[in-house]
Amino acid sequence: SVVVEKLTKDFSGVTVLQNINLDIKEGEFFALLGPSGCGKTTTMRCIAGFEKPTSGVIRIGEKVINGLTPNQRNCGMVFQSYALFPHMNVFDNVAYSLNVKRLKGSNVLKKMATYTRMLNSRLVKYPKDIEKKVRDILEYVELTEHAKKLTSALSGGQQQRVALARALVMEPEVLLMDEPLSNLDQKLRHTMRNTIRKIQQDLKITTIFVTHDQEEAMSMADRVAVMNEGEILQIGTPTDLYSNPRTPFIADFVG
Ligand code: ATP
Repeated sequence: SVVVEKLTKDFSGVTVLQNINLDIKEGEFFALLGPSGCGKTTTMRCIAGFEKPTSGVIRIGEKVINGLTPNQRNCGMVFQSYALFPHMNVFDNVAYSLNVKRLKGSNVLKKMATYTRMLNSRLVKYPKDIEKKVRDILEYVELTEHAKKLTSALSGGQQQRVALARALVMEPEVLLMDEPLSNLDQKLRHTMRNTIRKIQQDLKITTIFVTHDQEEAMSMADRVAVMNEGEILQIGTPTDLYSNPRTPFIADFVG
């Protein structure tokens, strides 16, 4: 589960999040929905540990995670822009974090540099367990035949499946997705909605999905939080929000 209590965030005196409260259940698919600039990404970044809250408490399971670095939080992230390594093949992209984790030492940047050097000089040989894990997940997201291709040579939908595999291979407790479909064309967006929903249900992984697209949120999520101007206006199931929108803004926004 993910619990956010009284989260606020200021950027140089400007409040972008005010009193955000969320109680996301284990295994739930939860969407943060709202117009551009309302604070969805900032909320997500606070949960992932890329932004420090001005105040408030964030918990994953029973554990308060405010003081933890992103690496210590056990969150998998998928971004709109995929954020893959374009000069590495699909397999190496997915294996990357597993290998960085395996290297000795506590300095993550140093470990990343070491591993990148190994990759570049083609010295890297994967241990059997990592090899198997990566193969299994690539099979699962139907990318086996593309394993040796550079990610820059793939289509948008394939790249997003690599990003998904890369997040899932770490077996995160929480999957955070920030507008993962908005770079895809209409048709692919619909296919990927089903893919993501199926994977989420297969793995029963607690998922937070950020989107400005009401249809996407309403068709995919168990519950949706509607945000505007740094505040949460209403949280409910898609049916709740359709039938009992609390304000005209919400009624308008969810259609
Ligand atoms: P979008 O869908 O356009 O990404 P969003 O709902 O995700 O919008 P955020 O990206 O969270 O919104 O931004 C919320 C507000 O915070 C915006 O007004 C934005 O300009 C501001 N903001 C975000 N990051 C920073 C930053 N690092 N410094 C200053 N202001 C920021």
